[in-house]
Amino acid sequence: MTTRILTNVKLVLPGSILPSAAVRIEDGKIVKIEEWRGELREADCDTLDGNGNWLIPGMIDVHIHGANGYDMMDGTERSIQEVSRACAATGCTSFLATSVSSDIDSLLNMIRSVKRVKGQEEGARIAGIHLEGPYLNPKRKGMQNEKYLRHPDLNEMQAIFQEAEGLVRMVTIAPELPGGMELIDYLKEQGVIIAVAHSDATYEEAKAAFAAGASHVTHCFNGMRPIHHREPGLVVAAFEEDHVSLQAIVDQVHLHPAILRMMHRLKGLRR
Ligand SMILES: [Zn+2]
Repeated sequence: MTTRILTNVKLVLPGSILPSAAVRIEDGKIVKIEEWRGELREADCDTLDGNGNWLIPGMIDVHIHGANGYDMMDGTERSIQEVSRACAATGCTSFLATSVSSDIDSLLNMIRSVKRVKGQEEGARIAGIHLEGPYLNPKRKGMQNEKYLRHPDLNEMQAIFQEAEGLVRMVTIAPELPGGMELIDYLKEQGVIIAVAHSDATYEEAKAAFAAGASHVTHCFNGMRPIHHREPGLVVAAFEEDHVSLQAIVDQVHLHPAILRMMHRLKGLRR
């Protein structure tokens, strides 16, 4: 049995924070948490001084395209490893390698490079792939390249899933496009998280998508029809649906802090 004790950490627990804690780990599992008083009774185990830093559960990044100048769409293993290391350095222990809208060949190349790196990650683990597009609405394109935006194509999506061999975990779509609802049915059968963004969906269109199985909003408020009191759009539809979770870009540029507070108040911790 390998025992390791992490001392002197600010420990985040569900609903509380222990300002000074020691954590005992046996064979990779946390078995005991106690208050740290500056000394260790057992001397015969491996200890690591946390220097008063935070100890939190590993975060999962569900939306990352690249890091430190590397873009995972370039189809190289190096870019994926760079993201893996960058994630680990910021407290993320796993991530969804996220594509942007592109031609089919680039997309399949990216998927192949993710498959090659999976299991060989130098930092955070690959939890799967998030396809952001290419079935998005040019009216709300944001940073997506309009040249590659297209209507949902089930044959193409099947080819992508075949290449990905179960790695696709999330797909961001614009459900109001022709064929959008059929695409939701297909994605639901595949058991992936259906996310909505880069979408001009009205309130009614969004309600239909959420009823059919969509359950997440990618970068909520950005790249979608804004709230209007006569046409509340997809954002209000998402607020109303308990099963729908929200993603937010928390950089104080994409969203005003008051909007973040409102999202938090309306959706709570879990969503
Ligand atoms: Zn986006």
